[in-house]
Amino acid sequence: MTQTSIDILITNGTVLQIDADSTRIENGAVAIAGDKIRAVGRAADFSAASASRVIDARGGIIMPGLVNTHTHAAMTCFRGLADDLPLMQWLNEHIFPAEAHLDEAKVYCGTLLACAEMIRSGTTCFCDMYLFEDAVARAAAAAGVRAIVGEVLYDFPSPNYGDIEQGFAYTEELIARWQDDPLVSIAVEPHSPYLCAPELLKRASSLAAAHRIPMVIHLSETESEVAQMKSKSGLTPVGFLAEQGVLSPNLLACHCVVLTDEDISLLRRFDVKVSHNPESNMKLASGIAPVPELVEQGICVGLGTDGCASNNNLDLFLEMGTAARLHKVSTLDPTVMDAAGVLRMATIDAARALGIDHLTGSLEPGKAADIIIIDTAKPHLTPMYHPDSHLVYAARGSDVATTIINGRIVMEDGKFLSLDIGKVMEDINVIAEEIRKDNNLCP
Ligand SMILES: [Zn+2]
Repeated sequence: MTQTSIDILITNGTVLQIDADSTRIENGAVAIAGDKIRAVGRAADFSAASASRVIDARGGIIMPGLVNTHTHAAMTCFRGLADDLPLMQWLNEHIFPAEAHLDEAKVYCGTLLACAEMIRSGTTCFCDMYLFEDAVARAAAAAGVRAIVGEVLYDFPSPNYGDIEQGFAYTEELIARWQDDPLVSIAVEPHSPYLCAPELLKRASSLAAAHRIPMVIHLSETESEVAQMKSKSGLTPVGFLAEQGVLSPNLLACHCVVLTDEDISLLRRFDVKVSHNPESNMKLASGIAPVPELVEQGICVGLGTDGCASNNNLDLFLEMGTAARLHKVSTLDPTVMDAAGVLRMATIDAARALGIDHLTGSLEPGKAADIIIIDTAKPHLTPMYHPDSHLVYAARGSDVATTIINGRIVMEDGKFLSLDIGKVMEDINVIAEEIRKDNNLCP
C-alpha cells in the first residue's frame, strides 16, 4: 500500500470475509480507500503508518455489515402499541388507525429512529416498503445508511399518492430522483397478490424490468391469504403470480410461509428470491416458512425483520438466532440452518436477494466499505472457539462497537456520528404522544 492510499485501516481483529470460501483471517485487517474496500489480509501485512486513520478492533470480529431484506422502517412509531392479538383485530383496530396519523414528516422521523437502531445493531443496508418513501430515502441518506426503498402499491387509494396511476408516477419520480445516489436506490413494490389486481402486478413487473431494479412483494404469508387467493382465482398466491408472468430473478418475495411443492418449484424455476422473517411470522402466528427446503432447492433466502409493530425490533443478530433455532425445533433436526449458513443469509445472500451482491454483503476488495466491528471482550462472548457460532447464538446487536457504511464511520465505540440520537428519540416521543391521545388506539 502506498503512503496515501488508505483512509481507514481496521486492524487487530478476526476478519470474516463471508466470501465464496468463507475466508477467516485471524489477526486480520481491512483497508478502506474512499468508499471502497481496498484490501483485506493479515494485520502484519499492513503498516499503520500508511493509513490516515487506524481503528483498533481490540481482538473483536471484523465483518460485513448486515443486510435487512424486508422492513417497514417508520413503523418504529408503533413499537409495542398493540401486541398479542389476532392478526385481523391487530391490523384493523390498531395498526391501520395508527397509520392514519402518518404523514411525510412522521415517516421521516420514524425512519431516522429505525436507521439509528439499525446502525446500533450492525445493519448497514435495508430494503423498505411503506408510504411516503421519499421521506424514507431522505432519512436513510441523512443517517448514512444504504437503502433500497419502494412506495407500496395497491388497488385502493393511498394516503400518500391517491390512486394507482399516481402511485406509478410517484414510483417513477423516485427512480429518477435517486438514480445517482451513492446509498439509496429504488424498488417497485406492489403490496401482495391479494391487494393488487393483475394489471397492477404486470405493470409493476414491467417497470422493474425496464429499470433493472428489484420488485418486492409480500407473498404467501398466511393460510388465510392462500385460502382467499384460491377462492378468488383457483390458484395459490405463487401460482397466481406465475399466471401473471411476474415471477423473475429480480422478484423478492417476502415471507413465503405457506408453500406447496409446486410453489417451491415455481420459485426455483424463475430464480425468485425469498425474504425470511421468522420473528414476525412467529409473533403474528403466521407459521414457519420451509426455509431449509428452499435452501436445499437452491433458492436464495435473505433474512429480514419486517416492521417494528410485528417483531418488535430491527436487530438482525436476534433474527439470526431465531432463524437458526426455529427451524431446528420445527424439523426436530439440530443440523439444519447451521451458524455459517444463517450468517450468509444476513449478509451475502441477503445482498444477492436484493441484487446488490456486487456492491455489499462481503468483505472483498472493490466492494463498498460496509463494515462492522463486534466487541467480543464480554462475558457472554468469552471464550470464542467459533466466531460464526457466537454471532448467531450468543451475540446481540448491542455488541456492535463500530459501524462503517460506504466508507463513512456512522458509529464508533457505540457513539452515533451521523445523527443526533437525543433529538431523534425526542421527535418520536412527540409523535407517540399524539397516538396515545387517540383513545381508540390506547384505551
Ligand atoms: Zn412486511
